[in-house]
Amino acid sequence: MPRRVTLPRLACTGLALVLGFATGCQSTDIAPLTTAGTALEQDEQRLWLRADEEQAAIERSGLRVHDPQLDAYLDAILDRLHPDPLPDGHRFHARVLLDPTLNAFALPTGVIYIHSGLLAHMENEAQLATVLGHELTHTTHRHAVKSFRSVKNKTAFLATFVVGTSGLGSLIGAVGTLAAVSGYSQDLEREADRVGFDRLVAAGYDPRESPKVFRELQTEARRTKLKEPFFFGSHPRLQERIDNFTAFLATLPPEKRAGRLETEAFAAATHDVLGRNVEASLLAGDCDAARDEALRYLARTADAPEIEFLLAESYRKRNEPAANQTARDRYRQLLARHPDFAPRTAASGWS
Ligand SMILES: [Zn+2]
Repeated sequence: MPRRVTLPRLACTGLALVLGFATGCQSTDIAPLTTAGTALEQDEQRLWLRADEEQAAIERSGLRVHDPQLDAYLDAILDRLHPDPLPDGHRFHARVLLDPTLNAFALPTGVIYIHSGLLAHMENEAQLATVLGHELTHTTHRHAVKSFRSVKNKTAFLATFVVGTSGLGSLIGAVGTLAAVSGYSQDLEREADRVGFDRLVAAGYDPRESPKVFRELQTEARRTKLKEPFFFGSHPRLQERIDNFTAFLATLPPEKRAGRLETEAFAAATHDVLGRNVEASLLAGDCDAARDEALRYLARTADAPEIEFLLAESYRKRNEPAANQTARDRYRQLLARHPDFAPRTAASGWS
């Protein structure tokens, strides 16, 4: 779990003064950004500037997956879900971070980050669009500034950041922490579910996929016992998502309970990054996840020696007699077909 660290009181006050955040009462009853001509409010503009700085830190980090085709694929889904621009010329973008944990979050500026580990638990574009629809609603419905205004001690909030073992934990500041780790209040999360679901249906995706993706995440959360910072917060929150989407689905007329899955398009766009996620899972010590992800990858790709090697490693790293034998068999099969193979991945521990 991340450790919360608070700066000394003097530093907090200084930070708040520098940023110029007012401490008086401000309304949390503000119109969504989807209303034409909605302008950002003053404190919101500062929050966006801070989000831009935090985004720049994430972008500079080694976590960001640079794959222009994947970026374009994600942005095209967002265009279908939300074709209108945001204020000040901003547009929605979604980007992937190489991290095997289950997480996704939206900065208030419309930049959505998805962990590769979350993609690894999805089956199709409709499921991905469910998560993107939820996330983009946090931006359109201004959940960051609403939450910020409801925080009593703003100086403490702004001076609080997360120090975690994962790369992301050491990068993001207060705005990212709110979005990525803490999550929003129950009412705001429900609104993100509701509006996101309506956008999913309007974009023609199959809404039956929505509860499915959260059920899969719940299964995975139980398996890993929530060892890592987790986007959906906790088991009750995941159950809440499942209950919400199941209830929304029940309100749809039968002819609307169908739509696009785009399984092949999703598989093609995410293939490379999911290969890289095998290594990330292995480096995180999750041999079961690495094995399952490698097998799924190899089922789609006949010849992928690097992933075959990682699969063998997922057995060897268990350090059990039967698994060691499986690892040896896998190494032999790999070398029979690729006599010159040498691993180039960090997960091998050889480099
Ligand atoms: Zn949310």
